[in-house]
Amino acid sequence: MKLRLQQLDLPPDYTPAQLVQTMARTLRCQPAALSGVQVVRRSVDARGRSPRLTVAVDFTMAGPLPAGVRDVEPLELTPPVAARVISDYHGPRPLVVGAGPAGLMAAWGLAEAGLKPLLVERGEAAAPRARRVQAFWQDGLLDGESNLLYGEGGAGLFSDGKLTSRSKDRPRVRRFLEALVTCGASPEILIDAEPHVGSDVLELLVPAIRNRMIALGGEVRFGARLERLEIENQTVRGAVISGEALRTDCCVLATGHSARDCYAMLLEQGVPLEAKPFAIGLRLELPQHRIDTAQWGGSFPALGRASFRLTRREEAHARACYSFCMCPGGLVMACSSAAGFLTTNGMSLSQRDKPMGNAAFLVPVFPADYPAVAQKAWAGIAFQEKLEAAAFALGGSNYTLPAQRLVDFLEGASPAELPAARSCQRARPAQLRGLLPAWAEATLRLAVPKMLRSLRGVVLEEALLYAAETRSSSPVRVVRGEDGQSIGIRGLYPCGEGAGYAGGIVSSGVDGLRISEAIVGAR
Ligand SMILES: Cc1cc2nc3c(=O)[nH]c(=O)nc-3n(C[C@H](O)[C@H](O)[C@H](O)COP(=O)(O)OP(=O)(O)OC[C@H]3O[C@@H](n4cnc5c(N)ncnc54)[C@H](O)[C@@H]3O)c2cc1C
Repeated sequence: MKLRLQQLDLPPDYTPAQLVQTMARTLRCQPAALSGVQVVRRSVDARGRSPRLTVAVDFTMAGPLPAGVRDVEPLELTPPVAARVISDYHGPRPLVVGAGPAGLMAAWGLAEAGLKPLLVERGEAAAPRARRVQAFWQDGLLDGESNLLYGEGGAGLFSDGKLTSRSKDRPRVRRFLEALVTCGASPEILIDAEPHVGSDVLELLVPAIRNRMIALGGEVRFGARLERLEIENQTVRGAVISGEALRTDCCVLATGHSARDCYAMLLEQGVPLEAKPFAIGLRLELPQHRIDTAQWGGSFPALGRASFRLTRREEAHARACYSFCMCPGGLVMACSSAAGFLTTNGMSLSQRDKPMGNAAFLVPVFPADYPAVAQKAWAGIAFQEKLEAAAFALGGSNYTLPAQRLVDFLEGASPAELPAARSCQRARPAQLRGLLPAWAEATLRLAVPKMLRSLRGVVLEEALLYAAETRSSSPVRVVRGEDGQSIGIRGLYPCGEGAGYAGGIVSSGVDGLRISEAIVGAR
């Protein structure tokens, strides 16, 4: 019988022989009695003096299981649900707009089902896009259609490539990760509790996903922007893509939350949108070796680099605060998708081998925090834009990031020279006090030092802040019903982060799969 052993404790650099010996000891059997050993889950346990791995293993055992052995259970193999395939589909092609994780996976699901989708993306394919992004980082040259946020791979392409997700939809998370493995990702992402691929690997994976989708009958057009939906009787009849009218009865809108022109178009066309809470803050950078020491007591190459997740509850004069999108051994970078607006974010490469680690420190924002505007759903975007325009000006109006040492920010001191040891060289000293709304600034001043105190050995004088984090999640929801369609327009399927139904690479990809299933189910 196939069994699963949970909670096996192993050193970070264990060998396959060590694994089998530890299993045999736990199961009170000879190593030779074990076969088909396969690690299915692996997480770091950093509670002791030095970190250990906690591993779950599937295996087969010759002979009966000795009485009293704990943490072993029979493995119930649920047969995979057969995906529906429509082999003789001759209806109109579903249109998928946006080649971020959500759009790519929606198109993947539709192509696998035989529906031959057309995927349109305003930006460029991953390789030319990467060159354009380099020019932005080096010289501040922004292309409004193909940049860090627009283009094949979406906002996730130049990212940390963390594939963690709090989604409870484990079957679809698995389907998404397996799709990545099919396209060349390491199978380790299927077992690691905190899987990570890195931006350099994503740059190879994303074109492979596109090519597989094409091989299944789909089509992709780059430099193709959705300008308008053709709507009759509150039903999608077509769309205008870069001036060309296309007929379709189904449009998956996976345009991300940076495409503000798209929200404006939806508002104008009467698609129901609503404001939703989001968050703002600053990105903080620290020497990575301090984080490794604080979390693990030192460096453990077999484990990679240490991360952290810090939270602080609301208290007098301060809201809740949390760290977000921690990028161990990573880079802080400037981001923009429209002239005159600047935001910051973090990324890493697969090796996570840069000397600094960074994370956003965020404070929640609610619709009551910003002034109402004529179109209620637009108010959060207007609030973001104001902050991003101020950050752009503070950085010198050339996409240089404004930055300040944490201690100067806390004391209200004039901005001093920035430390040479920093990941983003296009940064300049600036007074970050006064940039964020008073309640956000007060929260960060109170909460950040207290949160960092839980990382023993971290030196506040070494911490650098970059402004501003504004795009950690969508300020708008494109409201949809249980069937995945917009509550106002039949045939329109809002999808992914921009629709307000996902946040992060995995949950956006999973949402794409979910929407593709809804479309296939309705045919
Ligand atoms: C720098 C950075 C680092 C990140 N790091 C991580 C991480 O490590 N892990 C993680 O889980 N998440 C990370 N995220 C968040 C993650 O990238 C997003 O949650 C995810 O990409 C959202 O996917 P999406 O497909 O919904 O939207 P997007 O990825 O935003 O994709 C939308 C796509 O639609 C296209 N588009 C927009 N308008 C139009 C139009 N009118 N016509 C045609 N195409 C259009 C855009 O060009 C874009 O390619 C990061 C984000 C950033 C910016």
